[in-house]
Amino acid sequence: MRKYGFLKHSLVDYPGEVCSVVFLPGCNFRCPYCHNKDLPQAVNDNGWTLQQIVQYLQEARSLITAVCITGGEPTLMPETLRFLVKSFKDLGLKVKLDSNGSHPELLEELSKTVDYIAMDLKTSLQRYSEIIAPGCSDIEHKLQASMQCLMQRPMKAYEFRTTLAWDFVDETVMHDLGKLIKPDSYWYLQHWRRDKVSETDTLIAERECINNCYAIAKKYTQHAFLRE
Ligand code: SF4
Repeated sequence: MRKYGFLKHSLVDYPGEVCSVVFLPGCNFRCPYCHNKDLPQAVNDNGWTLQQIVQYLQEARSLITAVCITGGEPTLMPETLRFLVKSFKDLGLKVKLDSNGSHPELLEELSKTVDYIAMDLKTSLQRYSEIIAPGCSDIEHKLQASMQCLMQRPMKAYEFRTTLAWDFVDETVMHDLGKLIKPDSYWYLQHWRRDKVSETDTLIAERECINNCYAIAKKYTQHAFLRE
C-alpha cells in the first residue's frame, strides 16, 4: 500500500495553529536548494498510509486543529489531494495547502474548500522555464493564473513565499514579483539555508542583500515579512 510522509505535530507550518503535516512526494520543479529531494526514500522507509493518517487525526482532534499538506508538490497527486482535503474537513480540521503554483486549475477547485494556501515565488516568472521548471509547458501563464486564484481569497487566507537564494533572486527579481502582487498580500521572505557559510565578509554582504530585498518587498505590500 502506498505511503506518505507524516509529521504528527508542528507549530510552524500553519499560522497560529497546532498542525500535523502530510508530505506528498515528487515534484515537477528542480530547485537546487530543495530540502525534499530525499523525501521519496524517507517516505518508503518511514511513511504512513492514508488510512493511518486519517485515523491518527481522528484520535488526535483534541490536540490538533489543522493540517498542512505539502510536498514535493501536492497538486501532482490530485486524487490523493482531494481525498485528504475532504477527509480532514470532515474531521473539522483546518487545511492549508503548500504549492509551487504549477496547477492553477486544481488550486482553483480546492480554493473553495481549503482554508489557507501558500505559494512559492522563486524568481521572475519569465525565468522559471529556464532555471526552475524546465519541461513544464506554459509555466509562466500557469503561475500567473495561480497567483490570481490566491489573490481572490481574503488576505489572511493565503501567502506568497520567496526563498532568498541568490542565483534566482536579486533586486530586479524582487521588483518583478512585487509588481504582480496586491498591496495587502502577505509576502514572506525566507532565508536560504546553506550548509556552509563561514566568511564574515560573505555574511555581511548577504545580510545587505536580505535587507535590500526586504525593503523592496515592503514597497509593494504592507504585509512583507522576513522569516528567520
Ligand atoms: S518546488 Fe519545492 S519541493 Fe519542488 S524542487 Fe522546488 S523546493 Fe523542492
